[in-house]
Amino acid sequence: MRDILPVNGVFEMMQLPADMEHIGVISAMTLSYHHGKHLKAYVDNLNKLLPGSGLENLSISEVIKKSTGALFNNAGQVLNHVMYFEQFGHNNHEPQGKIKEMIERDFLSVENFKKEFEQKGATLFGSGWVWLSANADGHLVITQEANANNPLVNGLVPLLTFDVWEHAYYLDYQNRRADYLSALWQIVDWQVVESRL
Ligand code: MN
Repeated sequence: MRDILPVNGVFEMMQLPADMEHIGVISAMTLSYHHGKHLKAYVDNLNKLLPGSGLENLSISEVIKKSTGALFNNAGQVLNHVMYFEQFGHNNHEPQGKIKEMIERDFLSVENFKKEFEQKGATLFGSGWVWLSANADGHLVITQEANANNPLVNGLVPLLTFDVWEHAYYLDYQNRRADYLSALWQIVDWQVVESRL
């Protein structure tokens, strides 16, 4: 799975995938706020809260598993956003190979999977994330996670996520969360998703 280590006790700000502002679906303005302001604030808060917590120098997934309150919320949001932004790109927009076989085994078809994933994202009440994860048996599951939660807290391996906090879509899609969710498939890089297995 995707994990991140601090460098000299500090979590660094991730860079967006190359040319992401030209990718469409998510506007350059949304990207600049979502990555440059929201994620930046989570990274800064995490780095402020870590000293003295007893969790310094652990990977982000270990911090998430061992923390509560503000530290948990900021660490969770850092990993959630890194996984969200990193999974987008200009290539590999259809699942292939192993991840495709797993989706067809567990959801009958890629189309069915997308429908269920979008539905779970659209019906998540309030702020949170819809996730595709692998469970301990190697099967794929879709979960709704509130606020900053990440499926790794429940022993799952997180693979793909759509952010349904309003800050992720409101500038581009206003209240049309379902339209935002269905549009995101156009920019998912499934090779990145499969690499998290
Ligand atoms: Mn967000």
